[in-house]
Amino acid sequence: MLSPLPDRSKPDNCPGVLIPHPAADGGLVRVRLPGGQVTAGQWQALLDAAVEFGDGALELTSRGNVQLRGVAPGAEAELGARLAELLPSRTHEKVRNILASPLSGVAGGLADVRRLPRALDRSLQLNARLAELSGRFLFAIDDGRGDVSALGADVAVLATGPDEFVLVLGGEPTGQRMRSAAVSATMVLAALAFLTEREAQGSKAWRLAELRDGAARVADRLTLRPSIVSIVHAVTPPVSVPGGGGPGLVGRIARNDGREALGLLAPLGRFQASQAPTGHDLIVTPWRGLIIPDLEPGTAVQHGLIDDPESPWIGVTSCAGQPGCAKALSDVRGDAAVAHQGIPGGLPVHWSGCGRRCGTPAGPHVEVLATDAGYEINGVGAVELAADITAARRVAGQ
Ligand code: SF4
Repeated sequence: MLSPLPDRSKPDNCPGVLIPHPAADGGLVRVRLPGGQVTAGQWQALLDAAVEFGDGALELTSRGNVQLRGVAPGAEAELGARLAELLPSRTHEKVRNILASPLSGVAGGLADVRRLPRALDRSLQLNARLAELSGRFLFAIDDGRGDVSALGADVAVLATGPDEFVLVLGGEPTGQRMRSAAVSATMVLAALAFLTEREAQGSKAWRLAELRDGAARVADRLTLRPSIVSIVHAVTPPVSVPGGGGPGLVGRIARNDGREALGLLAPLGRFQASQAPTGHDLIVTPWRGLIIPDLEPGTAVQHGLIDDPESPWIGVTSCAGQPGCAKALSDVRGDAAVAHQGIPGGLPVHWSGCGRRCGTPAGPHVEVLATDAGYEINGVGAVELAADITAARRVAGQ
């Protein structure tokens, strides 16, 4: 039996800069970073804004975006002006959700996709109708290693060679292939086809998977558009999407050109501005980490984050929990810090403060869910986790 579709009669309440979410600890502001890419100057502006307008910390999201918490009511306009370079569109602010393979052009991968997130971002902003997309709608540009195409995007492309990509809709690979120059146009057409199909179904769906036969019907609509004929150069049997990459981007990473990149992790995706590296262009990863993509070998970088590739914090995530979220049944961040720091090499672990399960990672993981009766633990590793949590709760006097 099909599970009931969620109620989408109201607009999504995803926060932005101009419309923060009123959380229990103040305004929650989310800044979109297409492809996770941020220049040294933009990064410094975010750090300064966190101190001046927020609680002094930054949070990294599972979509490679950045959040500030504790922002005072009415500060939106001044904050927006301060972050103007990161806020190129007022109308399309919340639909600029674009993932890209973080190590593309740096190490591995079949194609260098570093220019494509900005190109897609510009194309999205130029199409007025795409402002109708939900803030939950997600784009992904995968350089062929299968990392971000496995993260549940609505519209994705996957490189199959240095200058060839295949379209992936709702996780379903299609056979539609295009050159890199046609990636943005194809993804925009796919998003428009989603809106058209949504209208045809009389639906308010936020995501492709919420439509009846969404991926197949959008693919059909796309092949009927005359404009797609000129940009899709081949239609072949669908390729399979490889799984790969992920949370382990921590520590020194050898670049293709002999230089180095450095992967950093913030425990549970949150850190004080004073802990952040500065003076470098950065990539925010969808695994709540940072990459400094280009360093001379052995260059020392000042920071207060984790750079140990064996750290037990790798793969451990949580939602905000208490006291930041009024819906939370527990201080999941505090409990995660006391009870458990993951199992090195094991499945990712996600802590949720209630059944909404915000920030749950795509793919197999261990879920630690706060309930009225305590934590429920599902999936592989439950026994070890349960023991750790029990011990932690005893230490905490609960
Ligand atoms: S999962 Fe629940 S407790 Fe956690 S941030 Fe979302 S709504 Fe709040």
